[in-house]
Amino acid sequence: MICLSCTETSIDANLQIINKNREFIDLVEIRVDFLNSSEYDGLHTIPDAAGLPCILTFRKPADGGINTSISNEERVAVMLKALEGGWRYIDIEDDADTDAELQLMKAAEAAGTRIILSFHDFTGVPANLAERMIENSKGDRYIPKAAVMPESTADLLRIFDAHRQLSDMRSGSQGFSCTNGPLLSDYILVGMGSVGVPSRIMASAWGGMLTFCSAGSTEAAPGHISPAELVNVYNYNALSGESIVLGIIGNPVMHSRSPNIHNAAIKSNSLDAVYLPFETDQPELLLSHSAELGLRGLSVTIPHKQRVKGLADSIDNSVQAIGACNTLVCNSSTNEWRGYNTDWIGFLKPLEGMELENRKALVIGAGGAARAVVYALVKQGMDVLIVNRSSEKAISLAADFGCRGGGFELLDDTDDCFPLVVQTTSLGMEPNIEDNPVPGFDFSGVETAYDIIYTPEKTAFLASAESAGCRIINGFPMLKAQAVEQFRLFTGCVME
Ligand code: NAP
Repeated sequence: MICLSCTETSIDANLQIINKNREFIDLVEIRVDFLNSSEYDGLHTIPDAAGLPCILTFRKPADGGINTSISNEERVAVMLKALEGGWRYIDIEDDADTDAELQLMKAAEAAGTRIILSFHDFTGVPANLAERMIENSKGDRYIPKAAVMPESTADLLRIFDAHRQLSDMRSGSQGFSCTNGPLLSDYILVGMGSVGVPSRIMASAWGGMLTFCSAGSTEAAPGHISPAELVNVYNYNALSGESIVLGIIGNPVMHSRSPNIHNAAIKSNSLDAVYLPFETDQPELLLSHSAELGLRGLSVTIPHKQRVKGLADSIDNSVQAIGACNTLVCNSSTNEWRGYNTDWIGFLKPLEGMELENRKALVIGAGGAARAVVYALVKQGMDVLIVNRSSEKAISLAADFGCRGGGFELLDDTDDCFPLVVQTTSLGMEPNIEDNPVPGFDFSGVETAYDIIYTPEKTAFLASAESAGCRIINGFPMLKAQAVEQFRLFTGCVME
């Protein structure tokens, strides 16, 4: 289930957001700590007005609540009064022990409102996560909930493990005696922050009751995704523990457009799979846990393209030659990972139909992406000149591929005309869109100017080439085409 956390300051504004997102959500959580206190008297009207099961939550400041000016007694009194509205659930922190809090819990049970007994850890993932949740279930009297902050992939895997322990317990597969009914039927477990995003997308698939999301002006907790994105991009409701997991590893990775591209292809091919963003500094942990996670394929981005080459069980020739791996595919029978490079294939795609063999190309930049570009151009039989700010890198790259290279001054010494000029540095990328590594470059108008940057659509480099009459190509077709090849390697299916 998808639960929309409502964090507006008025009841009306919350209802508007609920109505806007109704098609995507199954229930709503009203975060009373975000509401203006003048709204408290109207709280009981919300469940009827929302027309969906509602969770009443008045979070304490210590657990992330934002109303710091109210006393605990007043907070509890507001919830007690609101209960008459017929709330399906109430969220109460697991350290609640004052008389007023215990009275609130009794009143909730008497009103038929199910108690979610929660705890929050904004500093990490506690070692006893599953045990504490099982304890909080009190023999299935309450729904235990934990929201924790994974700082690393090791932490994310601890959340996954806790899901497994809790799910096993629910199904009795750990041999727990359930003669007096289940020890645990429902639980809620999510990881916050960007590292925790996969656990939000997989919350139900891994066994939890729901995931939380935000759609208003404020994020209720770090790492919330919008309800539309959960449904339209990640196909949340169709995911299960059987779904194949694909994803992208990098740091940072949340800006990546790859989840949109791959999940759209998963949908159009009707595959039981999902493509997740894994912000990680520990790619080796994801590779070694592939069987448990159902992980079958990974796109690799900065800063891991070189490092994962050594983590794969085998690598394709292109990875060996380029020295970087942007795709990892897991063999489901042996759980062995093979590394590929699809950047060079993607790079060539928009050049299809252009005569390349025995013609001259200029490559600006000598970083990781330039290696794939030079490999592709040399493979097509082009005569390549590489220029780079750090001349030694250009010289070394040129030596690896049998071409010429050096500093930008080489451009002053050459009369060559280049039918193809490729910009591969990060200069001109958002937000520094005015930057151009070769601002004075003298385009004659016959060149094809190709910038592998895809944000912005037209870099300063491409704008100057276009104004000279050149054909221009930006980095998006390359990104798309390398993803098409990755998707084929991951699934054997075609990405339209
Ligand atoms: P990288 O390995 O870090 O290389 C960066 C390159 O930019 C180096 O040549 C570096 O020169 C140069 N550079 C950086 N700052 C500079 C400055 N102030 N002046 C002059 N040159 C400068 O990065 P990468 O992985 O090659 O990525 C480069 C770009 O390609 C990024 O914008 C990335 O988004 C894009 N890309 C696009 C695709 C796609 O599918 N379209 C795929 C991969 C990458 P030095 O060697 O002198 O530092």
